[in-house]
Amino acid sequence: MADQNYDYDVLVIGAGPGGYVAAIRAAQLGLKTACAESRDTLGGTCLNVGCIPSKAMLHASEYFDAAANGAMAKMGVEVSPKLNLEAMHGQRLDAIKQLTGGIEFLFKKNKVTWLKGRAAFEDAHTVKVGNETVTAKNVVIATGSSVTQLKGVEVDNAKGVVVDSTGALELAAVPKKMVVIGGGVIGLELGSVWRRLGAEVTVVEFLDQLLPGMDGDVRKEAAKIFKKQGMELRLSTKVTACTVKGKKATLTLEPASGGESETLEADCVLVSIGRRPNTEGLGLDAIGLEPNQRGQIETDHDFRTKVATEHGGVWAIGDVIPGPMLAHKAEDEGIAVAENIAGQTGIVNHAVIPSVVYTWPEIAGVGLTEEQAKEKGEVKVGKFPMLANSRAKTNHEPEGFVKVIADAETDRVLGVWCIASVAGTMIAQAAQAMEFGATSEDIAYTCHAHPTHSEAIKEAAMAVTGKPIHM
Ligand code: FAD
Ligand code: NAD
Repeated sequence: MADQNYDYDVLVIGAGPGGYVAAIRAAQLGLKTACAESRDTLGGTCLNVGCIPSKAMLHASEYFDAAANGAMAKMGVEVSPKLNLEAMHGQRLDAIKQLTGGIEFLFKKNKVTWLKGRAAFEDAHTVKVGNETVTAKNVVIATGSSVTQLKGVEVDNAKGVVVDSTGALELAAVPKKMVVIGGGVIGLELGSVWRRLGAEVTVVEFLDQLLPGMDGDVRKEAAKIFKKQGMELRLSTKVTACTVKGKKATLTLEPASGGESETLEADCVLVSIGRRPNTEGLGLDAIGLEPNQRGQIETDHDFRTKVATEHGGVWAIGDVIPGPMLAHKAEDEGIAVAENIAGQTGIVNHAVIPSVVYTWPEIAGVGLTEEQAKEKGEVKVGKFPMLANSRAKTNHEPEGFVKVIADAETDRVLGVWCIASVAGTMIAQAAQAMEFGATSEDIAYTCHAHPTHSEAIKEAAMAVTGKPIHM
């Protein structure tokens, strides 16, 4: 039963992976819980227009590409693929429907009340959701993020010429020429989808390398791989204008450091230059909370904002607070915040949050990059190429490598980076090892099943202080 002064013990605003997980955990811990969501479905960006639909298109287009580019023929399976884009979109929509419906089921099962509508604070314990006003002892802001707009480039998803990630998931036809603005995670994942299905893809990136934040070797190798796959990369370049006439866009490009401009035509332009926290219309001024310069809500280690009273208070998690904008980071924060509200000790180790780019091959990392690690002290690095991994070689997946970075003195693992067909799955063992404070020797002397791609992590760990066997 809720504290009698309030309708709920916990009201979560936003039902993305941060919010829905927080609500379920709070209910599991015996707290009377509601979750406000302004979309018609639960699951937030991730399930509706993010992680899940993008993976549905990536997975399906991978099959098409393998059939079209000769990868299947190499293994003795000769086929001529025919694209049924409507069916491909159909399976994407089906995945969304099943998974968002699954969250609805979990809400019912755990007795979480779904309040439908946009929420705005009236005070720290009173929130208007649509036309209803509810009170809660604790309010968790989990409002997520939205696409960052680029000045001079107007997105119109319905028209389908200049789109953001949501529009790029839903294109009704394969564009002949697609320009992706921003060589980050979304640009490379969704650019890969449409390249595989037949589009000529040019990526325009402001920086001199793709994938900011990732390890330097990984960024360089990724650029080589994407170029080999046929993507044109225009690094150190910015887009300064975009005009749309009918179904064609003309972009004006300039060197990032300034200089002569040129134009580039496209049937489709994807704007993917980052995302910004959702705080507009939330009534933060009513509770005296101001976002920081990056628009994020600051919290302490327990996810408590500065608006906290002796009767609970306002907490925040997920994309709306500082840190990587990742679903699993939001989920872990959701569990931790609920446990903290319930008086337990909820902790997220932000030093060990894996990140994965679901391209082909996949790109994954956890912990420090080699550059960051070297800034902190002396390191030892072990590398192992996927070409020398028996399973990757047998599967005709020779591209990529694993890199293990360890403290030179203590041998403690500081970071692991991989490019491999299944790097996203491989990185879990590195995260777990780091969470347990493993040394490279611990990984090197852990028995890994043969033949698996994961053996490359063992061999890279062996290379930190000694020698791998298969090189
Ligand atoms: P969100 O998922 O954004 O959910 C917030 C919810 O709050 C939304 O449903 C919104 O409608 C609701 N809301 C906002 N304001 C209000 C209000 N005032 N009242 C009521 N409701 C409100 N991350 C990964 O880890 N892996 C991936 O593979 C991955 N792929 C992605 C692909 C794409 C194309 C995109 C765009 C993102 C991807 N992400 C991925 C990022 C991931 O989606 C986010 O990090 C994650 O969804 C953040 O979760 P969240 O709960 O903080 O917010
Ligand atoms: P991002 O930050 O990953 O990449 C944006 C890129 O755009 C950067 O490389 C940046 O240098 C570049 N850029 C910025 N302004 C530019 C300009 N004017 N011209 C050209 N380039 C410019 O952002 P994103 O790809 O939009 O993704 C947003 C968020 O969603 C990310 O934080 C990411 O973590 C999350 N996401 C995660 C996954 C995943 O985990 N697989 C997938 C998709 C999205």
